[in-house]
Amino acid sequence: MQVFFNTEAKMEIIKIMKFGGTSVGNPDRIKALIPLVTDDDTKIVVLSAMSGTTNSLVEITDNLYSSNVNEASEKIEALREKYHQVVEELYKTDPFRNTGHELINSHFDYINNFTIKVFTKLQEKSILAQGELISTSLFQLLLQERNIKSVLLPALNFMRIDKDSEPDYFYIEENINRELEKHDPETIIITQGYICRNVYGEVDNLKRGGSDFTASILGAVLKVKEIQIWTDISGIHNNDPRYVENTKVIRELSFDEAAELAYFGAKILHPSSINPAREKNIPVRLKNTMEPEDEGTLITSDTKLLDYKAVAAKDGISVLRIHSARMLMAYGFLRKVFEIFEAYRTSIDMITTSEVAISLTIDNPEFLHQIAIDLKELGTVEVEENQTIVCIVGDFRTERTGSAPEIFQALNTIPLKMISYGGSPHSLSLLIDSSNKTEALRLLSEHLFN
Ligand code: ASP
Ligand code: MG
Repeated sequence: MQVFFNTEAKMEIIKIMKFGGTSVGNPDRIKALIPLVTDDDTKIVVLSAMSGTTNSLVEITDNLYSSNVNEASEKIEALREKYHQVVEELYKTDPFRNTGHELINSHFDYINNFTIKVFTKLQEKSILAQGELISTSLFQLLLQERNIKSVLLPALNFMRIDKDSEPDYFYIEENINRELEKHDPETIIITQGYICRNVYGEVDNLKRGGSDFTASILGAVLKVKEIQIWTDISGIHNNDPRYVENTKVIRELSFDEAAELAYFGAKILHPSSINPAREKNIPVRLKNTMEPEDEGTLITSDTKLLDYKAVAAKDGISVLRIHSARMLMAYGFLRKVFEIFEAYRTSIDMITTSEVAISLTIDNPEFLHQIAIDLKELGTVEVEENQTIVCIVGDFRTERTGSAPEIFQALNTIPLKMISYGGSPHSLSLLIDSSNKTEALRLLSEHLFN
């Protein structure tokens, strides 16, 4: 791939390279990014916070909310110390070390400010933004020390969400392009993942794991050739390697298949991050910083169908079963059920119905209790927690015959509580008790992929 210009000599970005928390997780890992970002392609490098940092910042803000100022201060100082250590190892020369230490102090003095004031949502968001602000500053300083031409583009100057917390594409496109005009194509552009401004101009974020989303949004508005998401595993595996041995990397996935897998638990990609790329048909490649030669997984709009491509599982599911004689031959009953979930802004994952009963699953238990109480107006309600949705991605087009017999054969020792088929041509989902998850995943791998 090579650099080219359009008629206005505007910089054309070829690719987005997003590095996750583990890829910037320690000084050696950060240094290992240098050969990856110094190829000839014009690019934007999007960084997450160093792994663990956003979690620590969340703990700090939790303490500040409950006025545990001492605990918050202790945590702030421990994190500051950790970063001074990073600075010591990251840079070779004293002037850069000194600048690094100053940079760390300015961020942590800023965080410290909030220990003396009344703590608000706005301040929480400002603290959570520090992880990405620090990682990108440290990385840009490292490139400076190595005499590699780069610039830090503050995401807060162009990433913005609207009143529904959705990306404001129009604003983002205009503003990123304006920022890019100031730089020449040899410059490595570095920016923060995850952070943005909201409709009031305040510092906000794209929710946990949102750096992937930043990469995809930028890739879509700049119509790049490829969006690369770099982590510490070579792409999406056909089953969860934490529970099953001998999983294999899937080389090709469609956007739809990837979205199902990401949503149902393949931790590698933030589920909403697929949408902007899919909309503009920009390929997304998942790569491994530890094995940069590995081609990883490529997600595009057209890929080969396979009977079974992958299995993923999502825990923390609750099922609600409503039984009501009133449902028999009635119309409008489901609407009443759905309205209750809507009132609590709780989305439903899986549904199965019979003539007098309906089962639904949710993954956000915040209002489970209230929802169950409201549903009792409509019939008897049974709630079961600690459930897992197992999603099998493959060819489940409804015009096929013989889809899925291997799945039921494989799982004939596992009680299946709900089955969802026909909703998506790419997947079949099952609800099981979480205690049966490992066994179910293992059996599926054994029967479908061996
Ligand atoms: N640092 C943020 C988080 O941990 C965003 C990200 O890493 O994608 O959630
Ligand atoms: Mg991530």
